[in-house]
Amino acid sequence: MDAKPDKIRCDACPVMCYIADGKVGACDRYANQAGELVRVDPLTILRRTQDQGGKLVEFAGRNDDWDGDLLGSSFVTAIGAGTTYPDYKPAPFIVSQEVDGVDLVTVVTEAIYSYCGVKIKIDTDRHLGPEQNTVRVEGEAVGHVTTGEYGSQMLSLGGVNHLTGGSKKEGRVTCKTLMDLCNGEAVEMEIDEGSSVVVQAGKPPTVNGVAEERMRVGCGSATIGMFAKQWHGLVDEVVVVDDHITGVISEHQAGKVLGWEDTGIKIKGRRSTPGRYFQVAEPGTGWGGTDVDDPLTILGDFNPKVAKPGMTLLMVSTTGEQHAFYKLDEELKPVETDLPESLEVSVARIAENCEPALCSVLFMAGAGGSLRAGVTENPVRLTLSIKDTLTHVTCGGAPAYRWPGGGITIMTDVTRMPANSFGYVPTPAIVAPIEFTMRRQDYEKLGGHMKEIVDLADVVPRGKRSESPHAANPWPTVSTHFDWRDKGKPS
Ligand code: SF4
Repeated sequence: MDAKPDKIRCDACPVMCYIADGKVGACDRYANQAGELVRVDPLTILRRTQDQGGKLVEFAGRNDDWDGDLLGSSFVTAIGAGTTYPDYKPAPFIVSQEVDGVDLVTVVTEAIYSYCGVKIKIDTDRHLGPEQNTVRVEGEAVGHVTTGEYGSQMLSLGGVNHLTGGSKKEGRVTCKTLMDLCNGEAVEMEIDEGSSVVVQAGKPPTVNGVAEERMRVGCGSATIGMFAKQWHGLVDEVVVVDDHITGVISEHQAGKVLGWEDTGIKIKGRRSTPGRYFQVAEPGTGWGGTDVDDPLTILGDFNPKVAKPGMTLLMVSTTGEQHAFYKLDEELKPVETDLPESLEVSVARIAENCEPALCSVLFMAGAGGSLRAGVTENPVRLTLSIKDTLTHVTCGGAPAYRWPGGGITIMTDVTRMPANSFGYVPTPAIVAPIEFTMRRQDYEKLGGHMKEIVDLADVVPRGKRSESPHAANPWPTVSTHFDWRDKGKPS
């Protein structure tokens, strides 16, 4: 009998590691177990409980010893399924199951993505850094600040240029950053000419060592619109300080409609429309995302023809976190005094209307390359089938948004996927689960590997990890994912 070689060669990615018995390869994903190449992480099966709409389904050939397995509510994810490289080989699992009388096939593979990254939404007004500036981890460029959104700062990290286009260290650090973020770990990053931020999916951001609590209620103008009525009659002037649009109630349309009197206030920023001012200060981590610690610095002198001693002024930030109340003295200078009880409610209500600040991490990747060959012999047909809504795409059972236009460019909320769904290979590239589900007849039409189809009942016992789906996820095989309207029911 031939002795087994000391080392075996893993062919699951271009690195082609030689792995000794009892050892793992460079990515920790494959091991040599007594001469057999094995995937280290367990194949993960999603299981719905009856509370989640799951059904107990008996399957053919197991009526004697059937133990009430929720086979009809099981879905084989690609987590732990393994990778096929080069991709002309069929995907690791091509699984059939019947759902409500429809014969479905799910093609399951762990994709290796060189073209991938994360889009991060950080709920904070605080200035993290100028748009386009570089985001660094361990000093390496891993992405950049992109255009801000309403109440949130946005980062775009990863992508093929950071993974492959820079130094070896840049690629390695970028890959690890992406994997850690996607697996729900906290990552500290520095922004050029900006702040230090700790980002963790589904958790509040920490900016310069301070945990953010609240997302702003709206811009300064929107805050005026929301609360104008509650301030009317209680104070002569309100200024909502905001780095983008500072609101001034006496000039704002909301104040005008309520019959608000002019106060002679002067704001130093650029007036956009009545009661709405841009650029009242520089961006920063002070009031309303400005660099201001003393809000009076954004005011000019009150107009003596309009203003009167004793007039009152409330200045507040867009989260209600900072607020101050003033009275004009004989020289029409604002003098800070205690916030009257009558205004405490409205300031507290701004804070009450702010949602908790969170970091959202969306994994984005291009699945339109060679991995399609593991699904079909005619790859473009898979792309077209997805566009025709005949094939549904999930990542670890979580819904994947497909971008319009060419290719299969998908985006997924990593918090909707099972824990530790992501891995890497040292090329460097990210490894992530992807599943394509369609009717058997549609799979055949797109040139699927029909001979490789196996029954769900044969695959489920190989699943060594069972997970409940995220409560917000639609079940991957429900018919509403598909457009079968003019294609007829399966024969
Ligand atoms: S890096 Fe991992 S997947 Fe690639 S060859 Fe080595 S063990 Fe296999």
